[in-house]
Amino acid sequence: MKIYQIASIPGDGIGKEVIPEGEKVLQVIAEINQGIGFQFERFDWGGDYYRKHGVMMPENGLDAIRHKDAILFGSAGDPNIPDHITLWGLRLKICQGFDQYANVRPTRILPGIETPLRHCTRDQLNWVIVRENSEGEYAGLGGRAHQGHPIEVASDMSILTRVGVERIQRFAFQLARSRPRKHLTVITKSNAQRHGMVMWDEIAWQVSKEFPDVTWDKELVDAATARMVNRPESLDTVVATNLHADVLSDLAAALAGSLGIAPTGNIDPERRYPSMFEPIHGSAFDIMGKGLANPIGTFWSIVMLLEHLGETSSAQQLMKAIELVTANPKFHTRDLGGDAMMSDVTAAVCTALKK
Ligand code: ATP
Repeated sequence: MKIYQIASIPGDGIGKEVIPEGEKVLQVIAEINQGIGFQFERFDWGGDYYRKHGVMMPENGLDAIRHKDAILFGSAGDPNIPDHITLWGLRLKICQGFDQYANVRPTRILPGIETPLRHCTRDQLNWVIVRENSEGEYAGLGGRAHQGHPIEVASDMSILTRVGVERIQRFAFQLARSRPRKHLTVITKSNAQRHGMVMWDEIAWQVSKEFPDVTWDKELVDAATARMVNRPESLDTVVATNLHADVLSDLAAALAGSLGIAPTGNIDPERRYPSMFEPIHGSAFDIMGKGLANPIGTFWSIVMLLEHLGETSSAQQLMKAIELVTANPKFHTRDLGGDAMMSDVTAAVCTALKK
């Protein structure tokens, strides 16, 4: 029997609600599949930890989770703590510390979910956005000087390295190859950003030579937003830099029906470190503590976690259960226009799994 060690980090806001629901679902998966089990270790890192200790996670926190098989993460964000502290002090610390350089964000319209796109059918929107997760615009380089004076200056430097660009583009081409369409769209902005993005384009062209069976095209990030709305069926796998993909993937989540549904994986493709799976929504303090959060984004992230662990049939079972549940409007939470509570959705997914 294989027991997977999972680090569970609920974090802040509704993360504290949806992650325990995710653990429940994994326990049911263990019940119905005799060969596997999950052992969770919970870490109370986040805003409350910061109020007590002055840091979002302990200095040696990465060592406590380094040997886990995977990390299940909720969200980091607190109305009383500046965003750059909550983000850099926890989520990015883990992503960067474990070199989880590929951020993978699948987007589909699940059964029963309405898209704001008027003429789009379910089969016309099926994307995976691959976000460069280790450098680019979020490399963290830059600074401020003369603070508070009229001559104050601030800079953020975007860094693209050949190694960083090659590895993310190779990962994206490989992912595109594994999907039926075998098509990759490389997002760029080389008309305006004339150094890093030009190298990005050149490397895409070079890496594409290793993948003669994958078709690919290039799209400016601004044009890509319009294309997502007007011609969703023309996209399949998409690769973009950290900032560009950050923006495009929130648009993708909204077009697929709700931020509450979308999942993501922060992957170390070389498997030197554990990868981390999380819903893409944030802490959503407006609905926190009321049991209103949609847990589907967490459950779909668990599908990705199971796929990453090689538990393909469990992943398929869970995805089927999720789709059965979203197909029934009785189980739609408020973000989807329904009045179901989070616990109703979890119970329905667990029942569907047991069937
Ligand atoms: P953060 O600052 O941590 O990124 P946020 O509150 O600014 O978080 P999100 O949590 O990403 O932003 O979501 C924006 C809004 O979408 C929320 O205020 C909430 O109303 C809604 N929302 C997000 N996730 C969910 C969910 N899982 N279920 C229901 N509604 C959600």
